[in-house]
Amino acid sequence: MPPTKLDALIIGAGFAGLYQLLCLRDRQDLNVQVLEAGAGVGGTWFWNRYPGARCDSESHSYCYSFSPELTQEWQWSERYPQQPEIMRYLNHVADRFDLRRSIRFDTRVTDAHYDATENRWQVTTGAGDRYSVTYLITAVGCLSTANVPSITGLQDFAGNWYHTGEWPHDGVDFTGKRVGIIGTGSTGIQAIPVIAETAAHLTVFQRTANYSVPARNVPLTPEFQQYVRDNAALIRATMHSTANGHPFVVEDQSVFDVTDEQRTAIFEAAWAKGGLQFRANFRDITTDLAANATAANFIKAKIRQIVNNPATAEKLADIDHPYAAKRPPIDSDYFETYNRDTVELVDVRAAPITHITPSGIATANGEYPVDIIVFATGFDAMTGPMLRIDITGRDGLKLRDAWEAGPTNYLGLQIPGFPNLFTVTGPGSPSVLCNMPVAIEQHAEWIAACIAHMRTHGIATTEATQAAAIEWVGQVNDAANATLLPHAKHSWYLGANIPGKPRIFMPYAGGMARYREICADVAAQGYVGFTLAGANASPSPSATGPG
Ligand code: NAP
Repeated sequence: MPPTKLDALIIGAGFAGLYQLLCLRDRQDLNVQVLEAGAGVGGTWFWNRYPGARCDSESHSYCYSFSPELTQEWQWSERYPQQPEIMRYLNHVADRFDLRRSIRFDTRVTDAHYDATENRWQVTTGAGDRYSVTYLITAVGCLSTANVPSITGLQDFAGNWYHTGEWPHDGVDFTGKRVGIIGTGSTGIQAIPVIAETAAHLTVFQRTANYSVPARNVPLTPEFQQYVRDNAALIRATMHSTANGHPFVVEDQSVFDVTDEQRTAIFEAAWAKGGLQFRANFRDITTDLAANATAANFIKAKIRQIVNNPATAEKLADIDHPYAAKRPPIDSDYFETYNRDTVELVDVRAAPITHITPSGIATANGEYPVDIIVFATGFDAMTGPMLRIDITGRDGLKLRDAWEAGPTNYLGLQIPGFPNLFTVTGPGSPSVLCNMPVAIEQHAEWIAACIAHMRTHGIATTEATQAAAIEWVGQVNDAANATLLPHAKHSWYLGANIPGKPRIFMPYAGGMARYREICADVAAQGYVGFTLAGANASPSPSATGPG
């Protein structure tokens, strides 16, 4: 069978793939196909069905904003959307915009290689189906490659074990079970209180203690729902103007502009309000160690206040990094859960996990019997989802070789040596440091505009130059170094959670608003930093990107 010929192929049907499809198929009339490994739309939310799975962005901002009609007709029920509600939303979007007819589910892309003679990408799926496409767009998500640590003995464990990112669709019944959960990142912090509600006993294996601020989830009032409808344009404008794409603005005051009493009152109010904007009360919490310490100490004091057992409280408050240097979790009764008689905290930094036995988890301090193990151990983030596809660019260059020392790309959008391959929210873009739908809409629209430009001007290939990519990686490093983010040595932002992964700060920390401007300037200057080639293409104005 000859390969199916397409203008564009999009890998993934999450937030990114759905909107990219709409941009290319409906606005440009291209022949587009989406291939999706899951049995339905949803991307990360299709797989992450663990107990307590909920988005930390507020629901009225964790959605598309490109369609005023969609915004007007959809109504969120809670301050933070739960996984099933996000799935209902994305299914609604897929139906409303008739996207499903262009998506093939249960179809995993295994291999994609660039054929220079034809200037096409040849793509193969797990079932052996082949596609030949002009533009290849990866919308594979940043956190879609589950990381199950290699711990000796897991294969002999007599009970069941699960990774939160590949959760069974019919759920897991913890009733009467002894459960062990490994990991206290955003996922573990959401899952632990919910699992503790039904488990006979829950043992939490904590390697790195973590900050968390109450989410204060509540049902949305009709007044707030009306406010969202009436102020959709303002909310969108705010999200587009801020560094992190959230609908709140970071206050322009230093923690040292106020007295100790005033600062404590501000933190108390923020704690009572809950949510990610805890860090938004002062401009220097994320950039200045001394300023950060005031927030960190406030949260540590809260942990000691909430948790009754002083030894447990000390383990939870023994945090080795600045607040928000790792992705800051928000929670519903996380620290309170340690006051249950049935919940036990084990410090595996002090006494590491040595192996798994048929009946439990063994540490240097002894064995903890469990019937079920939950791995809330995160993901091979950002590069993992790309590298598990065998991608080969120009002259046989493998992506895994091009990225051996860490991801090199330009604006997080294109990789030198991989013409006409575009990445949505790849490494080098704000993505995970931003409210994701905001980052995704900007990327999908930029990529669509670039393809439209190519078609209008008879450009056959667009390819990031090596010089622009190297310069951009420098900017990504500089942006990270201007913050406290690199102070968290064990962070997945740095790839530090995966043994052997190069330690490079992956997301762009310069802020979404700034990044949006940079991308717009690049396009306005004739795609500076990209080589545009083809019959009518004029050469790129400069080899390097924006300064
Ligand atoms: P994570 O932040 O990488 O946390 C993984 C946890 O597992 C860490 O506590 C880690 O300890 C621990 N761990 C990993 N391997 C271990 C081992 N061999 N032994 C003991 N402990 C081990 O992963 P995550 O919690 O799944 O979160 C990933 C990201 O997903 C978040 O940062 C966030 O961006 C996103 N997320 C978003 C939401 C939301 O919006 N609602 C919810 C969940 C997740 P160390 O810290 O010591 O490595």
